[in-house]
Amino acid sequence: MPPRASLRAPHRASLRAQLQAPLRAGRRPFFRRIALAGALIALLVAPAGCVSPRAAQEAAEATSLQVPVTAAFYPLAYLLEQVGGPGVKVFTLTKPGVEPHDLELTPKDLVDLPKMSVVAYLKGFQPAVDEAVAQQAGRAAYDVSAAAGLTLAAPAGGEAGAPVTDLHFWLDPIRYAAVGTALAQRLADADPAHAADYQARAAAFTSSMTDLDRTFATGLKSCATTKLVTGHAAFGYLAARYGLTQVPIAGLSPDQEPSAKQLADVAATVKAAGVRTIFTETLVDPKFAQTVAKETGATLALLDPVEGITDLSPGKDYRAVMLANLAALRTGLGCA
Ligand SMILES: [Zn+2]
Repeated sequence: MPPRASLRAPHRASLRAQLQAPLRAGRRPFFRRIALAGALIALLVAPAGCVSPRAAQEAAEATSLQVPVTAAFYPLAYLLEQVGGPGVKVFTLTKPGVEPHDLELTPKDLVDLPKMSVVAYLKGFQPAVDEAVAQQAGRAAYDVSAAAGLTLAAPAGGEAGAPVTDLHFWLDPIRYAAVGTALAQRLADADPAHAADYQARAAAFTSSMTDLDRTFATGLKSCATTKLVTGHAAFGYLAARYGLTQVPIAGLSPDQEPSAKQLADVAATVKAAGVRTIFTETLVDPKFAQTVAKETGATLALLDPVEGITDLSPGKDYRAVMLANLAALRTGLGCA
């Protein structure tokens, strides 16, 4: 990042010039040499109290040089951090612990949107964000859905009506990496001076996700059951990638509550397939999962859709939560 790194150089150069120029100037009257020596000592032993205002100013300059970007919710924020690196300042519209499907925004949340270089969102996932972006983000708006390769429809058994697309692409590491690459390109367009940096970070992120994908494929290769009973229908892409069949209790959004018939159908599937584990989530009330578990004798286990990180999350970031998810799946599905 050459321009950022060179920020301090003018200060250093001018300081060196002050120190060296009089020394090179040859003999000087004694009193001036004393004065010069005193000034030199003062400069060389400058205590921390002297340095900190400049350091603070430089820190402020570095912060103001960061490219400001906003993510609609956690998986996009994590991607922007990964491919953006220290040159990017990431804001998130969905605060930690808020279930993103239900997000409501206040005018205060939107006040900074017009200042952003990129506003990454997933069209159709959060209606409040779609509206805010359309009104406030202008040309910074970037809908990641094209890069995500959204090929799955809502799982069968949902409510009737027009088919709905499953948007939970980030639970498939390969789709997630593709969106990371697209976001890096978008950052490069917004901040061309650091394009190579963003591209290098995207390549590293892709290789880390390829590694995660291999770990999942190996870990889920041979399991006692392939029926994945989940709280809401977030795991379609993960199931499709690793040869599992998702049986969601609620719909694509946790607030699509199941009817009595849907609960009975899930319970029948659980019994018929010999499913021993019902997976629940951190940000959603597990009452329906508890109902099915009670009726079937299955136990509950946590499977996190990584829609937000809280103290209850089984890991500190996307990768850590996904690895915890893999461990939960291996136990719950009885994988060898
Ligand atoms: Zn969801």
